[in-house]
Amino acid sequence: MFSFLFSSDPKQSLRMLRHLAALISLLAFTLVSIFFYYNDLFLIDRVAFETILIFFWSGYLVLTFLIRSGINLRFKDPSLTMAQLLWGTLFLLTIAYLLKEWRGLMLMGYFAMFSFGYFKLKFREYLSVAMFAILGYILIILYLFIYEPERLDLKLELLQLAVFIITITIMLYTGSSIHRLRERTKEQYVALQEALELNKKLATTDDLTELYNRRYFMGQLAQQKAICERDDSDFVICFCDLDHFKQINDTFGHRTGDIVLKKFAEILKLSIREIDYAARFGGEEFVCLLVNTDVENAVKVAERIRKSLAEFNFSDIAPSLHATVSIGVSNFKQFNTIQETLMNADNRMYRAKKMGRNKVVFSDDEDKAA
Ligand code: GH3
Ligand code: MG
Ligand code: MG
Repeated sequence: MFSFLFSSDPKQSLRMLRHLAALISLLAFTLVSIFFYYNDLFLIDRVAFETILIFFWSGYLVLTFLIRSGINLRFKDPSLTMAQLLWGTLFLLTIAYLLKEWRGLMLMGYFAMFSFGYFKLKFREYLSVAMFAILGYILIILYLFIYEPERLDLKLELLQLAVFIITITIMLYTGSSIHRLRERTKEQYVALQEALELNKKLATTDDLTELYNRRYFMGQLAQQKAICERDDSDFVICFCDLDHFKQINDTFGHRTGDIVLKKFAEILKLSIREIDYAARFGGEEFVCLLVNTDVENAVKVAERIRKSLAEFNFSDIAPSLHATVSIGVSNFKQFNTIQETLMNADNRMYRAKKMGRNKVVFSDDEDKAA
């Protein structure tokens, strides 16, 4: 029963729920009409009465079908609020016209109906439904006044109409306030989501280079460790430190130093795969986490990184500017703890410095370097 009526899309289910609430209201007013009919308050015979009920119910069931089938999604307002309200209004107006007396009672139905539009309609839409209801009712009174005056207690009708208009006006005002409030809440929600996104980005990325920051990188390392222990696979850390960077700053200025850092970050990003991670560890130190890789392949990547920076032409920034990097490479399986793997990569990087910089060191043997 539920899957028959409700779609798996929560938004569509909510629309269907609201529509069912409108259907239940229609049922209530249908029962009231039947009560009126059996108390001989209608002008029409049974066939006409039943035809009218079937007509309005069919209209609502068409809306049920539109919502359940998803055709409603093609409309600007997929809840079909306006259609539901206008159809309901027409139903109440028809009943009001056909009643011999107690016509004003049907006006009360509007209040129940309009409350459905509270959360959905904009002021203009609300106004047009209200105007439709008011003008329809005025037309009925006018018609009766001209053609069937014996069915009309004019004083009472006008008084009812005045009270109706006043109440509808107040509802119009509160309705549009609620709508505005709802819109504002929606905007605030979107702004909050954006702020959260930004916050997340700030917490995980480095401002200058837009690489991951150290904290995020350490988190990824912990995850990789768990994966490697489960799968018996391996990962490699490349520890990169720019050579004589202080000198670059001193010679060309801090701003130029920043440009070099950014360029190196770009080189890192371009040299690794989507699944790998590159982070700024601090200052002019960078780290790469190459997942599911052995040392041999990691050295190729590290060499590519080293070469790309060494060969990069900075002449449009400063004619004599050159930058190089020293890289230490260590794999997790050799050490089995994150701290030791990192420390070893760092040590190998220092050895690369000692060996003259602009080198990749991947082993502790004195003579092994790329
Ligand atoms: P080595 O080859 O031995 O690594 O020498 P180095 O000069 O690169 O090493 P050192 O640790 O002496 O200097 C690092 C310099 O990096 C010092 C610091 O001012 C600079 N630095 C750190 N962070 C930044 C930054 O965000 N921007 C700039 N422009 N420079 C930075
Ligand atoms: Mg350093
Ligand atoms: Mg350095």
